[in-house]
This record gives sequence, structure tokens and C-alpha cells, in this order.
Amino acid sequence: MRVAVLAETAAGETRVAAIPETVKKLAGLGASVAVERGAGRQAGISDEDYAAAGASVGSRAETLDGAGLVLGVIGPEADSLGGVAPGATLVAMLDPFARRETVQGYAGAGLEALAMEWMPRITRAQSMDVLSSQSNLAGYKAVIDAAAAYGRAFPMMMTAAGTVSAARAFIMGVGVAGLQAIATARRLGAQVSATDVRSATKEQIQSLGAKAIFVEGVAGIEGEGQGGYAGETSEEYKKAQAELVSSHLAKQDIVITTALIPGKPAPRLISDAQVATMRPGSVIVDLAAGAGGNVEGCVPGETVERHGVKVIGATNLARSLPADSSALYARNLFNFLSAFWDKEQGRPVLPDEDEIVKGIRLTHGGRIVSERLA
Ligand code: NAD
Repeated sequence: MRVAVLAETAAGETRVAAIPETVKKLAGLGASVAVERGAGRQAGISDEDYAAAGASVGSRAETLDGAGLVLGVIGPEADSLGGVAPGATLVAMLDPFARRETVQGYAGAGLEALAMEWMPRITRAQSMDVLSSQSNLAGYKAVIDAAAAYGRAFPMMMTAAGTVSAARAFIMGVGVAGLQAIATARRLGAQVSATDVRSATKEQIQSLGAKAIFVEGVAGIEGEGQGGYAGETSEEYKKAQAELVSSHLAKQDIVITTALIPGKPAPRLISDAQVATMRPGSVIVDLAAGAGGNVEGCVPGETVERHGVKVIGATNLARSLPADSSALYARNLFNFLSAFWDKEQGRPVLPDEDEIVKGIRLTHGGRIVSERLA
């Protein structure tokens, strides 16, 4: 089967869906891989690197010609995929709720569209989970960006000219990104605390050497939460959380917010009045900026100053580490494809009843088949 790897066309996209290592592995499964010219440039991978790994490199039309499998980072429009084999499979992040018309376009073009960001969060699919691999890098980069914007040092330093005190960092939302943010801030020498609504995260925070700041006496979300995700909490919990956070926030230098609730706008965790209580020069990085923001006044993609505090509206931070984010994303894709690869047929075979297939398959046989989109 011919596998096409596209150069991304979405504004600001730096990543690529295959790296030389995964090109070789796909070839090892019997696939022939075609890479669009320049696809890996921003991730530091040259056309020659792909060719050395066994791929053919050419124009978009040459790449797509006869391809049965198309790999991308952000799903392209169906009308830009002319020349693929009938019934070809598209594997990418498709943002299905926001891009219903595009998904309809895939169905109309007879493509089988697989949305990698809808990978179920089950043990078997961990190595295929693109949200985790990208969030992990975003959590790291959020702390690095905060450190760059902060006019002081993170670690405590005792020098002949006096002592520099350690920065206090507070991480709100301890999923994949939050855990990495805790670990990174600790490595840089900050005094770290963190909070979440899911009770299971308390132990995880402590095991990373940070202080857990938790609402006591009002039930939040027990254990890991449904499928590992948070849901809405009660009004009583929200009030208790706001009070707890208020007194803690005023003492923080760095705040990283990562709180998301699937299918809902990001919960508002910090009001403008709370920002005003922080010390001027403090930095907040809102990783939920693209989903409505955890911080009042945050602007997606921009840094704004509120009451002397820098509020960074982070969107898609994984894109600012294109080499690593591409490598992890490409391996997620390969792990998925190889798990379903049928050696005799020389292509992935996706059983209708498989939990992974049900989770990510949007279109099949000319129509939308995803239950979540129905
Ligand atoms: P996410 O991006 O959906 O949300 C980030 C965090 O924000 C979550 O921890 C959530 O509980 C928290 N949050 C929501 N509302 C909040 C509020 N009001 N205040 C404070 N925090 C709030 O989460 P995620 O990073 O995708 O990970 C969620 C969980 O899924 C984790 O436990 C992770 O280990 C698990 N997971 C499992 C698998 C797997 O088994 N395949 C893969 C990835 C993640």
C-alpha cells in the first residue's frame, strides 16, 4: 500500500506526521511511503533524510497519486486530496466538532477519516494517544515560557551578593500537561504546589514532590473521573475552590493553568480581581486559552499585562517544539497503524466493533458513522 505523508498547510503548523524512523518502520510492514517535498523542514527533517529512510519525495500531486493511506497532523480539506485511491484512509487530528463540514467533505469524497484526538483513553491505546504526547510537551514548554517571561530566577541562589529566593509556582489542573509542568518547575528549582478537581491527582502531585492544594469537606470528582476526565463540579465545590485558590494565588509568582472539561468550555479558575492580588512581575500561562481560557482577560495567542501580571494565552505549545512533537506524534500514528496492520493484505484492517476503531472512525462508506458526531 502507498502511504502519503503531507506537508502541513494549516497556519502556524510546524509538525509533520512521519519521521525517518517511522518511514522505515512502515516500509518494514511492506508499505511504500511518499513524502511531500518540504514536509519535515520545520521539524528539522530534510527531504534527503526521508529519501535516505526509503521514502520517495515529490510534489503534493505525486505524493497523493494512488495513496491508500494519507497521514497528516491537521486534517486537510477533502478537495485538496485529489488523486488518492478510492476509499483511502486519512489519519490526522480532525477537530470533528468544530469542522463538521470538513468531515462531511471526507464522507462525500468516499474517504475513511480517522480522528486521532478521539483515541479512547484505554491502556491498549496509550502508545497511540496523540493528546497525551502533545500535552506532555505543552506542559513542559508552558513552564519554560513562564521562566522566560519572568524577571526573576526560579531556583533559590545563595550568592556573595545576597540570596535570591525560589519562585513559587502553582499548577492548576493536573492532567498530562499539569504533571509535566509540575516536574519541569521542580527541576528548575521552584517551590511547586498544584490543584485539581479529581481526587486521584492528590497522590500524583505529592509523588512529584509538590504540595497538593485541595478543597476539603466538599466532594469534587472521585478518583480518576469518568475515563480519566473531569466533569462539572457542584456550585458548592466551585465556591470552596475559588476561596481556597484566592488566598493561595496572592502568594504565587508563576501560575500554569491547564484545566479542561471535554465537550465544554474551559472552567474559569482565576478572575481579574484575583490576578490583581498577585505580585507585579508574576506570570500566568493559560494552556486552556484556546478552549475559552481558565483566566479572565486572557487572549489566545497573545501575552497581555493585567495589573502588572503577564498573562500568556498559550495555544498549541507543542508546535513550538516541532522536532519532539513530530517525533512523538509520528510514533503515535505508527503504533496505531502497526497494531491493526494485516500482513497478508498489506494494509491496516479496522474491525467495526473494536473500541479504538469506534472511537476514532468518523466516516466510512460515504457517510458519517461516528456516534459522537451523529
Ligand atoms: P484534560 O486535558 O482533559 O484536563 C486537564 C486537567 O484539568 C484534568 O486533570 C482535569 O481533572 C483538570 N480540571 C478540570 N476542571 C478543573 C477545575 N475546575 N479545577 C482544577 N482542575 C480541573 O486532562 P488530560 O491531561 O487529558 O488527562 C486526564 C486524565 O486522563 C489523566 O488522569 C491521565 O492520566 C488520563 N489519561 C489516560 C490515558 C490512557 O489510559 N490511555 C491517556 C491519557 C490520559
